[in-house]
Amino acid sequence: MNILEDNLTNYLKPEYVFKTISSEANKLNQQVYVIGGFVRDKILNRTSKDIDIVTLGSGIHLAKKISQKQKTSSLKIFKNFGTAMVMIGDLEVQFIGARKESYHSGSRNPIVENGTIEEDQNRRDFTINALAISLNKDTYGNFIDPFNGLKDLENQVIVTPLDPNITFSDDPLRMMRAIRFSSQLNFKINKSTFEAIIKNSERIKIVAQERITEELNKIILSNHPSTGFKLLEKSGLLKIIFPEFQVLKGVEIINGKGHKDNFYHTLQVLDNLLPHSIGNLWLRWAAILHDIAKPITKKYNNLQGWTFHGHEDKGARMVPSIFRKLKLPLDEKMKYVQKLVMLHLRPISLTNKSITDSALRRLLFDAGDDLEDLMKLCQSDITSKNKEKKIKYLKRFEVVKKKLKGVEDRDRIKNWQPPINGKEIMDIFKIQPCKEVGVLKDLIKNAILDGVIKNDYNQAKKYLFIKAKELGINEK
Ligand code: ATP
Ligand code: MG
Repeated sequence: MNILEDNLTNYLKPEYVFKTISSEANKLNQQVYVIGGFVRDKILNRTSKDIDIVTLGSGIHLAKKISQKQKTSSLKIFKNFGTAMVMIGDLEVQFIGARKESYHSGSRNPIVENGTIEEDQNRRDFTINALAISLNKDTYGNFIDPFNGLKDLENQVIVTPLDPNITFSDDPLRMMRAIRFSSQLNFKINKSTFEAIIKNSERIKIVAQERITEELNKIILSNHPSTGFKLLEKSGLLKIIFPEFQVLKGVEIINGKGHKDNFYHTLQVLDNLLPHSIGNLWLRWAAILHDIAKPITKKYNNLQGWTFHGHEDKGARMVPSIFRKLKLPLDEKMKYVQKLVMLHLRPISLTNKSITDSALRRLLFDAGDDLEDLMKLCQSDITSKNKEKKIKYLKRFEVVKKKLKGVEDRDRIKNWQPPINGKEIMDIFKIQPCKEVGVLKDLIKNAILDGVIKNDYNQAKKYLFIKAKELGINEK
């Protein structure tokens, strides 16, 4: 190697790592290949940080050798799986012995035996994921492509290497993966592959929820999540894995009046939001769930037509149970989604009437630091098919945005806390935590937000005494 090239950054490049693997495997007289996602992504010019290495022999043994050779690396061995991982910079290089898998109807888990490279490729989910490149000395860089994966990459199609019914029945998660790759790569799913997904959709029930949700989140974070959801719906998977979303689909007509199809509306909102939510999984979840309670709040009357009163409130209350079922985190991320669902009508409602400063302050206070995200969601929620209407709404929305900024610049409400808190109220009146403390706290907050009193400690305290007296609470 040229001495000038021999610097640390080169050691961390996949090309250098492959050379090291090649020479170490050669010394061990072991055949070795790079396979799967890395090969696919390399051809597609996508950066990929996880590299799968298959060898005919012990993956662990080879990994140990590479880890000794490669500077700044760390080794992890998974004895139970017979695999090992070497971290080289930010590259995760996984070593595994080539294996053959056979599934039997009695068990969900396959019987795994040592196999050839071809047998290892047979067990892969899609032809585009079954491509291997030789790292062996005399065939270095050659493709091993028994299923025409290169052609399928070129034609942008997702197809299983073997009979799709067997592939999906063996591991039903592959159905989710097919739809995930279609959403990430904007590839079509081959017809008979898709038909097999429809046929085997019920089998998704045997897959662990965590694995399903991981794929669902990847669909949501992809560049084409609405394509993914349409495929999930069409395949019959959606009604099993996320029935609350499935029931948004459809239009009911009474007296010749129909409401909009909330499934397609939600996907439109998600699409509108895409450029403003790259990498923001939870903002996308908020979009998915913003109208989730429409089916259960839907009513028809002759005067107003269709109404969905309180769907924002009911929807926010549905968020925890949906998150629990999908094994999504029940922490502040869930609270953020809940908050956006709860508030999603508020900015729009401000466009309808002459806006008061007090209404603007209230929204700033309730949304806090999540105001920008809420505004992105609400702007994306303007999906009217009527072009003029849409322009009119968007214009009004810009006015609200400007006014919010004006009030925030002046009053600094977003991160504001009322000047008197619950503890101080309890200390002043020598009372224990009780409902009245909350009532008094809210009265002070509301009086300031409504402009009844100034945002000032002394005014707040004076106001507190008046209101406490009205509630029959006196200073002790
Ligand atoms: P990404 O890393 O973007 O999630 P990937 O295709 O690399 O995509 P991994 O989960 O890293 O997916 O898996 C690496 C490879 O292992 C895949 O390319 C595929 O060949 C194989 N593979 C993964 N999961 C399955 C599965 N459920 N059934 C069959 N083969 C699979
Ligand atoms: Mg991968």
